[in-house]
Amino acid sequence: MTAESRRLLALQLLKKFYGYSSFRPGQYEIIDAVTTGRDAVVLMPTGGGKSLCYQLPALMLEGCVVVVSPLIALMNDQVAALIANGIPAAAIHSNQSETENRTILENAATGKIRLLYVSPERLLADMDAWVRNVRISMFAIDEAHCISQWGHDFRPDYTRLSVVKERFPGIPVMALTATADRLTRDDIVKQLGLVNPLRWTGSFNRPNLSLKVIQSGGKKQKVAVITEMLRKYPNDSGIVYTLSRKGAEELGKTLEMLGFRCAVYHAGLPAEDRAKAQKAFTDGDVQVVCATIAFGMGIDKSNIRWVVHYNLPGNIESYYQEIGRAGRDGLPSETVLFYSYQDVIMRQHFIEESGRPLITAEKLDWMQKFAEAGICRRRMLMSYFGEVMDHDCGNCDVCLDPPSRFDGSVLVQKAGSAIIRTDQKVGILILTDILRGSSRAEIRQKGYDRIKTYGVGRDLSTQEWNAYIGQMIQLGLLEVAYDEQNHLRVTPYGMDAIYGRVKVELTTFSRYENTKKGTGKQEKPAMTMDPVKQLFEQLKQTRRAVAAAASLPAEAVFNDPALLEMATKRPATVEDLLNISGVSERKAVRYGKRFIAAIRKFEGMSASMPQGSTYKETLILHNARVPLGEIADIKGVKVETILSHLAHLIDEDMISDFASYISRRDFETIIRTIDGGVKTEIDKLYNDYSNGLINLAKSIRNYHLRNGR
Ligand code: ADP
Ligand code: ZN
Repeated sequence: MTAESRRLLALQLLKKFYGYSSFRPGQYEIIDAVTTGRDAVVLMPTGGGKSLCYQLPALMLEGCVVVVSPLIALMNDQVAALIANGIPAAAIHSNQSETENRTILENAATGKIRLLYVSPERLLADMDAWVRNVRISMFAIDEAHCISQWGHDFRPDYTRLSVVKERFPGIPVMALTATADRLTRDDIVKQLGLVNPLRWTGSFNRPNLSLKVIQSGGKKQKVAVITEMLRKYPNDSGIVYTLSRKGAEELGKTLEMLGFRCAVYHAGLPAEDRAKAQKAFTDGDVQVVCATIAFGMGIDKSNIRWVVHYNLPGNIESYYQEIGRAGRDGLPSETVLFYSYQDVIMRQHFIEESGRPLITAEKLDWMQKFAEAGICRRRMLMSYFGEVMDHDCGNCDVCLDPPSRFDGSVLVQKAGSAIIRTDQKVGILILTDILRGSSRAEIRQKGYDRIKTYGVGRDLSTQEWNAYIGQMIQLGLLEVAYDEQNHLRVTPYGMDAIYGRVKVELTTFSRYENTKKGTGKQEKPAMTMDPVKQLFEQLKQTRRAVAAAASLPAEAVFNDPALLEMATKRPATVEDLLNISGVSERKAVRYGKRFIAAIRKFEGMSASMPQGSTYKETLILHNARVPLGEIADIKGVKVETILSHLAHLIDEDMISDFASYISRRDFETIIRTIDGGVKTEIDKLYNDYSNGLINLAKSIRNYHLRNGR
């Protein structure tokens, strides 16, 4: 096969099985490499489209692609999605019975399965059976960073995968990961024994994620922001990451009390509860999961619309991985990071208690710098990951609302002298209370209400003071005595500022409410929502119902970009639906009607489909060369009904290739008997063949007569 015809074939299959008309960057290069027998290492961000890189070769190569993945929880969803697209797939893992596993392995041996998902331990355990029985076209090792001790998710089972290359020499191996630095990547190649692999590294920039940092003091404000997200995205899902398990539970309770559907997830919950929370989230039964970092790995949901960090993450890698779970489908998604100096102090304690103080402290430092930066946040992130961006992104809070600076000397004087007057024995919370003139019992007991600076900072809110004191620490005017209950001290530089010997610039704290009102970009109430969005929301509800009835994850029906395109282009027939990216023939016919009905209703047309639609559906599947039995299955009708459709389509000269529906011998027997047989012979014919097949034969005969054959 020439390179060009291979490319055309790949494009055809992409359209036919996935409904997409072009490849994402890198996908074809990778597919081309493995289908010509070369190994490959694929490094792409989450949402980059890795799965397609090994799924499409499964359709191009003879035999079966074996996908090794540690995420058993995901396998069944992926298999369901593949089957919905008409690709024979199955999974072998420890969460299903041995009999089931054995049957699947046998089916693989007889070539009935194109994609087989398997956990590493199962692959290794049954290695001999694999070698003997299954014709394997390629191995895909997903989450390949698990093989490396350098990575953050080392799994001993993975190191034994080196035997794959030994036992299956000459079979291409593709290693895929979303998280790997250079060291890890080289380690993957070495340990798997890959031979001159194609190395593909995709850009890690995710322009569809908006980035926002909110300097925050309190719970009230955080809850207000989260509430706003929940109102803005009533039919979508989001994640809130909290630092502690307790934090996740408390927030869950609060949001529940406010009337939102939410779940809580952390490692301290029983496995059963965790599985339930995860399922509720993937099925879209809850709007939000309040979780610790334990949540995320193994969530295959491309339409998470927002991620909020309730507390500062410990490093940029975790932060980026966690926000990266949003918007994998490429649609605009929002991320918010709440930053307060208390979080930094808390994290620093963690680090001291952990065994690796140096490197983790440095990483936290970077995280803090990011949160406090006054330059485009995406540029900063990308440069951290070693990618150069030569322009500001226009989709982060700094770009959209550049911070302004002001002369903060007076604030430093107020804060600094309060610290000195309390003998440097207060932390950030009490200092704020003193400045704001709080009448809390503790303040009065200690006599802080009698010092000269008590109440001099009433004009600023607690949040503002928190933010400014944080900046003063960052600027080196104040320091935190970690060994003395986090009390604040004034540095010599701070003394200079207090005595007016140096001037200090602070960054204006933008109160969340202010920015919201100021930009006038408030979400309009649902009543006046723009029509595309309105229909989009309705289609999501249709999808939920369709997915529930089919026991499928919602996205296995249609993903969000497909629904959005439907809401924009408003297809009114199944044929129109095929022009939507992500809609394959099978899915158009299987699920399309409900969506078209919703669109037609929205457009004020009658919801029922135009006459002849059911024939058109059969024609679409016929043209896509879907086998007869499968057409009946997709349409949920009997094979007889489809045969009558086909006969009708032949009568109308809409179909001219019908060889696959009837054998030449059957055709000739039927026509000979019909045309020349006596009554008993004809009776016998109707015994031997179904009405549908006989009518089909007649239509074919008439077709030949009409067309002069
Ligand atoms: P990854 O495994 O890298 O996180 P996925 O394979 O889950 O990413 O793909 C993310 C999303 O992108 C999915 O919704 C998928 O259907 C979509 N996608 C993948 N390839 C294409 C393509 N060529 N055109 C349009 N959408 C695509
Ligand atoms: Zn920016």
